[in-house]
Amino acid sequence: MSQSSPFGTVYLVGAGPGDPELLTVRGAKLLARAGVVVHDALVNPKLLELAPPAAPRHDVGRRAGERLLPLEEVSALLVRLAREHQVIVRLKGGDPFVFGRGGEEALALRDAGIPFEIVPGVTSGIAALAYAGIPLTHRGLASSATFVTGHRVSPENLRQTRGDPFTRGDGTLVVYMGLGRLEAIAAELIRGGRSPETPAAVVEWGTYPQQRTVTGTLESIAALTRAAEVSGPSLLVVGDVVALRGDLAWRPEEG
Ligand code: SAH
Repeated sequence: MSQSSPFGTVYLVGAGPGDPELLTVRGAKLLARAGVVVHDALVNPKLLELAPPAAPRHDVGRRAGERLLPLEEVSALLVRLAREHQVIVRLKGGDPFVFGRGGEEALALRDAGIPFEIVPGVTSGIAALAYAGIPLTHRGLASSATFVTGHRVSPENLRQTRGDPFTRGDGTLVVYMGLGRLEAIAAELIRGGRSPETPAAVVEWGTYPQQRTVTGTLESIAALTRAAEVSGPSLLVVGDVVALRGDLAWRPEEG
């Protein structure tokens, strides 16, 4: 950190997927030194206890029914706080650079001349699968994996991306933010060439004590997920690796 900078340093820290034990050591050390914490809603509140009691906490995340604080407002807040504090922890769910606007926030900090560092976190698309006993890749079953957002699995995109790994028969597909469009996503993938019989799972509240996993096929997963009344943060996993859960589920789940 430059001594001459009038600003503190903003640390974009990945909070990990939920289980507080999955925070990185570096993330924990920075939280312990934080002068202020700016966090999303989807960050385990237990992690906030690692910051000094006197450090203000700013919640800039989305909650049901509320709008997401616009990026400009988050950036403006970070810039203001960087004038007042030496260590600003911007705590983001999972990994800051995976579907979390971390790159955009970092660009805004760069534009404002504010020093920043990125601390990676365990993304939910890796961790939730691990806790559900679903290997992301597996010899003979999946030699590639694709992370997409639910918005991207649309007729428009499928037309544009012929041969894209997410329509091919092999490779694991992990869909973030897809719960609200499960039926459409599954239908698009089948139309794109995935077999309706492809094993599929929805992992809700991955790595939290209340984690739940619904398993089925591409054809059945949407209805099964509705029937289970899944409503928390969830990932859709599509691919033959899902079948391994039958042998590898190592963590008891409720219900
Ligand atoms: N940066 C985050 C992702 C932010 S997008 C990361 O790396 O994990 C938010 C989406 O992530 C949610 O809509 C959901 O699809 C997924 N997600 C985040 N935490 C989750 C969890 N504990 N279990 C299941 N899905 C989760």
